[in-house]
Amino acid sequence: MDTLILALLALAVLLAWLVPLWRRRRALARPLPPAQVAVLARNVAQYAGMDNNQRRKLARMVQQFLFEKKFVGCAGLALTDEMRVTIAGQACLLLLGRAADDELAALYPALHTVLVYPGAFLVPRKEVDVAGVVTEARQDLLGESWGDGRVILSWDHVRRAGQPEPPGHNVVLHEFAHQLDSESGSTNGAPYLGSRERYRSWSEVLSRDFANLRHEAMWGLPGVLDHYGASSPAEFFAVATESFFEQPHQLSARHPALYGEFLKYYRIDPRQWQAAPPPVMLEPDPPGVVYGQWR
Ligand SMILES: [Zn+2]
Repeated sequence: MDTLILALLALAVLLAWLVPLWRRRRALARPLPPAQVAVLARNVAQYAGMDNNQRRKLARMVQQFLFEKKFVGCAGLALTDEMRVTIAGQACLLLLGRAADDELAALYPALHTVLVYPGAFLVPRKEVDVAGVVTEARQDLLGESWGDGRVILSWDHVRRAGQPEPPGHNVVLHEFAHQLDSESGSTNGAPYLGSRERYRSWSEVLSRDFANLRHEAMWGLPGVLDHYGASSPAEFFAVATESFFEQPHQLSARHPALYGEFLKYYRIDPRQWQAAPPPVMLEPDPPGVVYGQWR
């Protein structure tokens, strides 16, 4: 009798382990439904320029992302497939070059939930000054990335990505760049790079361009990178990631060393998906700042 109970227990443990694996395998073996592929074509601007292998790989990653991550509609938002697939497609774009071609790669392993608000959301902020005075502020946000495995997005702003105005902005790429950044253990503008030599070169190039962006922001000078990136090294990495994927020709012409570091990190060249824009000559550069010839 004891043997029978033990055998049944062992079987239950084995099934509890095997059934989720089998369900995952079955779900990921199915191709992405045509209606969802159409969403990728519509809402991931880079999709139009991809070759068939890249399109297949992105679709497979989206399928995996949708299976693994929980989506939650907030403030009464009823989530649709269009929202889920758009967010998954743009988030997986950052991993398209980094993930292995023929096996299921880890997609943001620390992330478990994507919360979606209909529009910009309000977040209470508490600031304490040196005298101990607490100021409560409420700030409008388009997106936020948390170290505890959550990303929060405004659907209204996700939808605007890839549209001509304002150029180069993409809130999904921005927040998921923060997720990649935090994989190194701290969100400080340097994701996991693997070797001391890579960190040295990354730090040298990004510190210099970060200082230049702070200069541009201080004097209100135009450039490729959004001045918001001047607020911290972490924001610089997120803003530069948006530009790398959304305005690759402009970024590579104006910030060639930065573009080179991102090519090594993302292992893909987004210039292949976009025609180069016509060159525009800039006003003479202010002293001490090195610019390319594009904007
Ligand atoms: Zn940010």
